[in-house]
Amino acid sequence: MNHISQAHQSFRLSAYHRIVVKIGSALLVDRTAGLKRDWLESLGADVAALAKAGVEVMIVSSGAIALGRTVLGLPNGPLRLEESQAAAAAGQIELAKAYAEVLSHHALRAGQILLTLSDTEERRRYLNARATVGTLLRLKAIPVINENDTVATTEIRYGDNDRLAARVATMMGADLLILLSDIDGLYTAPPHQNPDAQFLPVVDAITPDIEAMAGAAASEYSRGGMKTKLDAGKIANAAGTAMIITSGTRFNPLAAIDQGERSTLFKASLTPVNAWKTWISGNLEPSGRIVIDEGALVALKSGKSLLAAGVREVAGQFLRGDTVAVFGPDGREAARGLIAYDAADAVKIAGRKTNEIAGILGYDARSAMIHRDDLVVRAAKRVAAPKE
Ligand code: GLU
Repeated sequence: MNHISQAHQSFRLSAYHRIVVKIGSALLVDRTAGLKRDWLESLGADVAALAKAGVEVMIVSSGAIALGRTVLGLPNGPLRLEESQAAAAAGQIELAKAYAEVLSHHALRAGQILLTLSDTEERRRYLNARATVGTLLRLKAIPVINENDTVATTEIRYGDNDRLAARVATMMGADLLILLSDIDGLYTAPPHQNPDAQFLPVVDAITPDIEAMAGAAASEYSRGGMKTKLDAGKIANAAGTAMIITSGTRFNPLAAIDQGERSTLFKASLTPVNAWKTWISGNLEPSGRIVIDEGALVALKSGKSLLAAGVREVAGQFLRGDTVAVFGPDGREAARGLIAYDAADAVKIAGRKTNEIAGILGYDARSAMIHRDDLVVRAAKRVAAPKE
């Protein structure tokens, strides 16, 4: 089985740049006592230590429904949809407050983001969500993210925070996703069913053999289970994000990873930037066409964003977030990227300076026509533009 390495892995979380930490409900919430504040304090200390080391940390936290049950005095057992939505509404306030308090003990601010499935699956909403989370990170706040359970219904929800966390990690180009739950990693078979199951410290790729090891899906209480964790791993790894599964049941669960706590590392297949840019350059049919001047072409080649000032011509029907092809003055395709304006607005601001844009459009817009993070510049051997 060459997709599994048995070598023991020692981690140093501070070597990563952006880490998404997913926290399962069972770690945070006790059915009778409510929020496990001491545990949360210890997690806050770990997050602060990473932030101090220069790591950008995002938290995807479950627990709203579990906490809301306690807060609202709902009985144990399955809840009706509207009851779990009410529980999420009551629980999320408490959850966010607890994170804000705990992080404030380390002079850190929390920013709450509640996402629905379409916020990460539709490109335009995806760009908005990504911009907000990115701005929080730039402002050194810790994004605390959950699914917006109060409005999500069965057909349009993630349903589990493992996959939500993987989507957030890929959306933000994180290099590591950590799933903290009561499961300490992957075994060759479900360990509670098979006493001979062997623990796997490192998985090079999530192949069908690996998936077969997960067994059937989760219990009522922990929605996640190993199957959804491997689904999350596939999303993350394919986009260049490594994943660690470890048990968070002890205090300081992140520091514990560095100290050699048992965990499984699922290796990333590419770097995140490459994965994102591969998606832009390869997977989508451009819906528009932009011709730029020589100055803008030089700027793009040196890694800068495309500003409206350098745009000579705009053609095609596109909406903000669509892919457009960018042509140089010689008519060759120079780049592709996700455009930050609808076609009508792009036409209006083509050739105009950044400080004129708000006056022309009547709203305070993003300054770049295509941000450099959303731009893939073609290598030297360029493709000729199709004849008109
Ligand atoms: N969003 C749910 C909550 O906050 C949790 C989903 C999950 O545990 O995967 O209660």
